[in-house]
Amino acid sequence: MNKIAEILDGVETMGIAGHIRPDGDCVGSCMALYLYIKKCFPEIKVDVYLDNPKPVFQHIECMDEIKTEACGEKDYDLFVTCDVSARDRMAIAGEYFDRAKLNVCIDHHVSNLGFAQINHVKGDVSSACEVLYNLLEPEMVDRTVAAAVYTGMIHDTGVFQYSSTSPETMRIAGELMKTGFNFSKIIDESFYQKTYIQNQVMGRVLAESIMLLDGKCIVGYLKKRDMDFYGVDGKDLDGIVSQLRLTAGVEVAMFLYEVETQTFKVSLRSNGPVDVSKIAVYFGGGGHMRAAGCDLQGSMYDVINNISAEIEKQMPKEQDA
Ligand code: AMP
Ligand code: MN
Ligand code: MN
Repeated sequence: MNKIAEILDGVETMGIAGHIRPDGDCVGSCMALYLYIKKCFPEIKVDVYLDNPKPVFQHIECMDEIKTEACGEKDYDLFVTCDVSARDRMAIAGEYFDRAKLNVCIDHHVSNLGFAQINHVKGDVSSACEVLYNLLEPEMVDRTVAAAVYTGMIHDTGVFQYSSTSPETMRIAGELMKTGFNFSKIIDESFYQKTYIQNQVMGRVLAESIMLLDGKCIVGYLKKRDMDFYGVDGKDLDGIVSQLRLTAGVEVAMFLYEVETQTFKVSLRSNGPVDVSKIAVYFGGGGHMRAAGCDLQGSMYDVINNISAEIEKQMPKEQDA
């Protein structure tokens, strides 16, 4: 596939969906595609399904039109997922994906094995938003679509900081900026800004973090009872693992929080040679070389020990350095 128009021939109904706990790239890419279709192909009846997006994405146009649950039997002509690395990561509307006449996956996860009929997966590209942008006609990308694409790009690149940021990422960001949205407001309010409670929780995780593997691995954790104490959930914990990663001398950062008793959501970040995607895949998750995640059951100490053992296997030995 070179352009999105190639899969729209004869399509009257279309669904779009992202992954569970949608992040900025997921919301940005799904909404950008939704807004683009509405604008350029108004004859297509399009629905977008997202699992309760965070309020920080409210600057994106038409967020009030998102369907947060599947409702009734639907047979779409076309169903497209954005930023979804595996079929079981689809939050809602998975059934609609399966039943659609044609299903398509637009993604950038190296761990994506291709679960759709058409898989447009570019593992070396910064974000699903960047992959999607290349499928659109640039002159048809208006301010609303551009703001959605830009949101995804800043979230998955840490505001153009991670190694996945390429000259092409910056060129596209420049093109998007020309449409005139308030980029510094989007960066501040959707990426950096934290509530007072979120900052308190981050402070606590950092204060209680532990160093393993001779200071090359840092681990932060949050137990369910502490999350209940602060009144936070997984959505409030963005940015914690990135801050852990910035500890001097650290190669890998691990952050885990208890989703329910003895079930942990684990986030992994790497600064160098350790491929955390491999580790996440080993434990049933997925992601990218430098940012990956998985969900694990057991005691917190088992989870930390099991994952750090895999990190240690990949850690370069001193004599190799
Ligand atoms: P996170 O640590 O949740 O920010 O996720 C980092 C990257 O890993 C993202 O690209 C996610 O899509 C991916 N990822 C996180 N958790 C999982 C999981 N359980 N299964 C597959 N991919 C995951
Ligand atoms: Mn994502
Ligand atoms: Mn992504």
